[in-house]
Amino acid sequence: MVVGGGPAGAAAALGAVRMRPGLRVLLLDKADFPRDKACGDGIAAHGRDELAKLGIPDLIDDYRPTPRLSVVSPSGVRVSADVARPNHVVPRMVFDARLVEAARAAGVRVRRHRVRTLDLGGPVVVIDGRYRARAVVAADGANSAVRRLIGLPATASRHTAIAVRGYADVPADDDVQLIAMQKAGWPAYAWSFPIGDGTANVGFGMLLPRLHATGAPGRQVLHGRLAELLPDRPARDLRAHHLPLSTGRPSPGAGRVMLAGDAASLINPLTGEGIYYALLSGRLAGESAVEAPGDPLPLYRRKLRQALGRHLRTTDVLARLAQSTGFIDAAIGTAVHRKEVFDLLVEVGLGSGTVPPPLALAVGARWLRDTLGGKGRSASRP
Ligand SMILES: Cc1cc2nc3c(=O)[nH]c(=O)nc-3n(C[C@H](O)[C@H](O)[C@H](O)COP(=O)(O)OP(=O)(O)OC[C@H]3O[C@@H](n4cnc5c(N)ncnc54)[C@H](O)[C@@H]3O)c2cc1C
Repeated sequence: MVVGGGPAGAAAALGAVRMRPGLRVLLLDKADFPRDKACGDGIAAHGRDELAKLGIPDLIDDYRPTPRLSVVSPSGVRVSADVARPNHVVPRMVFDARLVEAARAAGVRVRRHRVRTLDLGGPVVVIDGRYRARAVVAADGANSAVRRLIGLPATASRHTAIAVRGYADVPADDDVQLIAMQKAGWPAYAWSFPIGDGTANVGFGMLLPRLHATGAPGRQVLHGRLAELLPDRPARDLRAHHLPLSTGRPSPGAGRVMLAGDAASLINPLTGEGIYYALLSGRLAGESAVEAPGDPLPLYRRKLRQALGRHLRTTDVLARLAQSTGFIDAAIGTAVHRKEVFDLLVEVGLGSGTVPPPLALAVGARWLRDTLGGKGRSASRP
């Protein structure tokens, strides 16, 4: 059984039925699809790899790839370059509904139901007194009820970000994903992700404690900073949501329940990207439920560690270093001159990349140099 029909839940259901066609899989979601979800709608190339593993490689082929990425560091160093593999921007209203439809087409039963109680005591898990399952994938998002019901606390506020997203008109040929970081309240940044239809998903996010520290109403801060950072892109349909970051990830489940996606706090602390990790962890949880139905959690834990362990440890360390805007300035300043560093930053920020020591040294050396004397420069790769 799967709770939640976002990318993690749909991937879990699809992963399970693909591994064992004909398996009875029930997917419960409190919403009917299509449904909106506050998100930047950015789907990294790694997310597309996951779609291929789920047997739906063409799911977003009708959306234009976005080849170029432009990042402005907190002190204004800008790097712009083509990414090694293009990202896509697909409104979640469309993306999630397609995923659920793909699961349904593969034989998954989908029901609208809000999960409120869970009994882990017996040989099967019982949900709300009526649904029974040998294994459960909890993919019910950032405010996961199932996570609470199995006794795991919510992600601590210091490991939680909050972001608002909206939609704005842009020229139809705008094909640059822009990330503009902000020194005030760092870590904080605005983004503009053009969809390819004359609109872009625009938004602004920051760490929750930094938002609280402003003492102002959240809405006022988030909407205000977005308007300030992207003045030429007034946004409509503003909607905010929490992002539980992987620096605060819990144990990935308890008993026969496995947590996936945001419910497992698997959002990249450097970029806020979570769709790839949701698809990946969901698939691994679904497969574990099939391979070890009596006791899936140890297998899931192993698979997760194999797929993401080194990456998560890397981003744990980088997130701590990135508390200093100087470190981020140095990393982006290095990427201006070295394409392999730019590519690596993308791998770490949007995928499962790790940092080889020579590159860590190059960034460290620049950080030291900037700290001791000079300042960052603005440049753009051809
Ligand atoms: C503003 C913002 C911008 C972001 N931008 C990006 C981006 O550009 N790219 C990126 O990769 N990531 C981005 N993220 C992160 C990304 O949105 C999440 O990581 C992703 O949605 C996680 O997917 P999920 O399936 O785990 O959870 P969700 O997509 O949240 O799905 C959870 C599902 O569970 C259902 N549910 C909840 N409670 C219950 C219940 N009790 N019973 C039944 N069903 C329930 C919900 O209805 C929902 O359908 C952003 C997040 C925010 C907030």
